Amino acid sequence: MPGTAGMDVPVHAVKGIGARAAEQMSLMEIHTVKDLLFYFPFRYEDFSVRRLEEVQHEERVTLQGTVHSYPELRFYGKKKSRLTVRVLVDGFLVQAVFFNQPFLKRQIEVGQNLIFHGKFDRHRLMVNGAIVKTPTSDGSLEPVYPLKGDVKLTSLRKWIAGAFEDYGGEIKELLPASILEKYRLMPRNEACYYLHYPQDMDMFKQAKRRMVYEELLLFQLKMQYFRKRTRESTDGVSKTWNEEQLQNFINELSFSLTNAQHRVLTEILADLYSPYRMNRLLQGDVGSGKTVVAAAALYASVLAGCQGALMVPTEILAEQHTDSLKSLFKDLPVNIGHLSGSSKVKERRETLEKLAAGDIDIIIGTHALIQEGVDFKNLGLVITDEQHRFGVSQRRVLRDKGLKPDVLFMTATPIPRTLAITAFGDMDVSTIDEMPAGRKTIETYWAKPDTLPRVLNFIEKQTKAGHQAYVICPLIEESDKLDVQNAIDLHAHIQEFLPDVKTGLMHGRLPADEKEEIMQQFAENEIQILVSTTVVEVGVNVPNATVMVIYDANRFGLAQLHQLRGRVGRGADQSYCILLADPKSDSGKERMSIMTETNDGFELSQRDLELRGPGDFFGVKQSGLPEMRVADIVEDYRTLEVARQDAAKMIESKAFWNSGVYSALRQALEEEGILNTDKID
Ligand code: ADP
Ligand code: MG
Repeated sequence: MPGTAGMDVPVHAVKGIGARAAEQMSLMEIHTVKDLLFYFPFRYEDFSVRRLEEVQHEERVTLQGTVHSYPELRFYGKKKSRLTVRVLVDGFLVQAVFFNQPFLKRQIEVGQNLIFHGKFDRHRLMVNGAIVKTPTSDGSLEPVYPLKGDVKLTSLRKWIAGAFEDYGGEIKELLPASILEKYRLMPRNEACYYLHYPQDMDMFKQAKRRMVYEELLLFQLKMQYFRKRTRESTDGVSKTWNEEQLQNFINELSFSLTNAQHRVLTEILADLYSPYRMNRLLQGDVGSGKTVVAAAALYASVLAGCQGALMVPTEILAEQHTDSLKSLFKDLPVNIGHLSGSSKVKERRETLEKLAAGDIDIIIGTHALIQEGVDFKNLGLVITDEQHRFGVSQRRVLRDKGLKPDVLFMTATPIPRTLAITAFGDMDVSTIDEMPAGRKTIETYWAKPDTLPRVLNFIEKQTKAGHQAYVICPLIEESDKLDVQNAIDLHAHIQEFLPDVKTGLMHGRLPADEKEEIMQQFAENEIQILVSTTVVEVGVNVPNATVMVIYDANRFGLAQLHQLRGRVGRGADQSYCILLADPKSDSGKERMSIMTETNDGFELSQRDLELRGPGDFFGVKQSGLPEMRVADIVEDYRTLEVARQDAAKMIESKAFWNSGVYSALRQALEEEGILNTDKID
């Protein structure tokens, strides 16, 4: 937590915190006093006195009334007891039941005013598990903190209160006064205090709003700073190419580019031309035509005398991209190479030699391409397809080889803006938000898994009309082996059910050359139904396939389902997607309905984000999302947007770097190790 120098001391500096307590707190990542002060509650217990008529059944409430009857005390066994007393609250007799507090019998008197707290039973007019409350003057919301180990809530409350007593005065303002005024934000020390001890929910909201802005601003300053540094490190190469030759390539395509393709290509070309190193994300829905944009960028780079690399997640895709680039460049003097894990040793050595000699202009391979002992003559552009992030380690490998190419990431998972500017805030983003004309929407249906025979009859009709189908197998969580068995069983079942249709089986455990052969047969319509585990998820292009059946569809996120669905609808014919699922949860059902309602990847990804939250959106490993203390990037997306704009302006302004107004913010970034570090590469 930045801007807190005076609080940068171990927790035991606070009166009343000893070695044992400090040790316990370290389990919760609380090491310093500032950690403690900024360890915020995740909810509050509301001890404000409520009116009986507004209280819900089963709600935890505090009530106030006059004691109406003598307490009745009963013991159970040796230690357990139950004390009941009737209290007149707002004209009703409410029974308060106290467990294991026998001493109250002596303290509660008839006619006395009593404030008590517990769980309300509306039907029986009872408050169970009651405790006696004394009236408090300074707020009635008590903080509840996430706990670990054997730390007790009461202890933590005490420690935090102690920290405020001794160190609360050290919390310094980070934000310039102009910003506080502009957004009417609470001062930092107040916000911190009231996040622990709000007097009412409105005060909590104001305190939170302030801290959310601060957190998101710091985060976006970091992102914008990284972005600026990448752009301004002039160690990239300015590429120049023959504009006419590039234009000819585009004119010779069998279609004209959509406006969106045109726009993103212009953005990419501007990066290639500039001396900055490109660090750009290209997002576009499945089938929006990213490949040809990538090809044009690679061609520009080749015309500028540089080599290009296209990296994809699977061998199958590498094959396909090799084929499509070869056909795009068939009349042009562009040498295309392909490196695959299954290439023969000799072949491989030849390819590597050609790469090093500059005899290959564009190399295509899996993401391992960069990591292997591959030498380039003059690598100028790296494009990675269907991968969320080009890892830091990959960039390091390149740098260690003395290579500083422009880098473009392509993804077919449309990323909602709030995530894009969080996970990719340090990058430039280009978006293809338009489909080539004439695309038919894929008709999508949701059915129970036991309708498989009907589905198979439908597939048979489609195959008789010359089309093909994918059937994605049931998923067994965490077990690749069982998934494979499922695929084998399902394949056998379909073969038996439709003996006249040629079926193929594909799963991750097949040797690479076998996979390749099966894909080849499917591409050439020698196989009509491809039964497969999810290995066909990304990028595969067989335009003649018109049916996609997905088993256990509810187990997938919307983004992934949309990817799978995108394997069909790539040709001129009407295509269908059939989701076989019997979801039990509401969100599962909702996802299935959403799939049947829309074909728009951006809409789907936004809904997916809302349903599953940002963590699940990318999958944990690839998330690249920062841990937030108070902000929620989905809920607080408006603030995120504002913080981003403010951060961008600040980073670009002279004042941010020179003026004392910003020194606390600058210092905060420095303390986080952000300024003057080498984190970008
Ligand atoms: P993706 O964005 O999913 O990678 P592709 O680049 O594979 O999409 O393109 C999908 C299909 O659309 C390809 O067959 C491609 O030739 C075709 N295509 C791309 N751009 C256009 C366009 N502007 N007009 C018509 N068809 C296009
Ligand atoms: Mg693609």
